[in-house]
Amino acid sequence: MPFINGKDMINHAYQNGYGVGAFSAHNAETILGILEAAEEEQSPVMIQVGQKVIQTLGMEAMKNLIDIYEKQFTIPISIHLDHSRTFDQTMQAIQLGFQSVMFDGSALDIDENTDITRTVAKIAKSLNIGSEGEIGKIGGTEDDISIDEKDALITNVNEALTFVEATDVDYLAISIGTAHGLYKQTPSIRFERLNEISSAVQRPIVLHGGSDVPDEQVKKAISLGISKINVDTELRQAFTKGIQNVLETNPDEIVLANSLGSGKEFLKMKVQEKIKVFGSQGKAKEFL
Ligand SMILES: [Zn+2]
Repeated sequence: MPFINGKDMINHAYQNGYGVGAFSAHNAETILGILEAAEEEQSPVMIQVGQKVIQTLGMEAMKNLIDIYEKQFTIPISIHLDHSRTFDQTMQAIQLGFQSVMFDGSALDIDENTDITRTVAKIAKSLNIGSEGEIGKIGGTEDDISIDEKDALITNVNEALTFVEATDVDYLAISIGTAHGLYKQTPSIRFERLNEISSAVQRPIVLHGGSDVPDEQVKKAISLGISKINVDTELRQAFTKGIQNVLETNPDEIVLANSLGSGKEFLKMKVQEKIKVFGSQGKAKEFL
């Protein structure tokens, strides 16, 4: 199956009570690991191109790589731009043919965030591309902030509703207690707030910082309207472990196909594990 609009993919998950994994890719091996895992599980999948890999390999190179590999697979795939901080970069992704884009204006004041997100969502919609916006600030686990400060970052229900009505984004990233990176303590999702926001906005919600959130919490979040779950850190961990595994056995191994190949296999297993938690396995056929 060819690429599909991110909106159609996420809405199907929303309407059928499961979650789509949005997995971050960093090179050819991670792209293949993600796609092979999704193919084996017959799951729709989002591949995320994030800010780090845009700085290193470039957005167009990543898009072209995914385009080439996509031809080997039958599952529905959407390429998603993660955490774009500028209008120009978001437009570049649209021009390159991404199926889904996120403009993250959460660092801007709310009016500016609303204005730019509204424009992005309108352009994306006219081109049959899904759009994601963010309201409330999703921090990093490395940010040293107090509990009070953390509470202040949790997305407010009225702000979320006003933002969605004003921008008409297809899916909404909110701050409900998760963070980017490795957690020092087990995170606790703020289910009550999630439920309030989900009931108010009546559209799919995106969970950022999905790595290392206990499976039971993720499943409950999905039942409350989370339809896209971003996973990056845990995949990078798995990939690194796969490489380490080879080098521990043979420190002189210089065949990169072996070390990177092992990274890919470890990552692939992690993606399969996540797909099962999100409940998207076997859903590919429903898109035919
Ligand atoms: Zn994020």
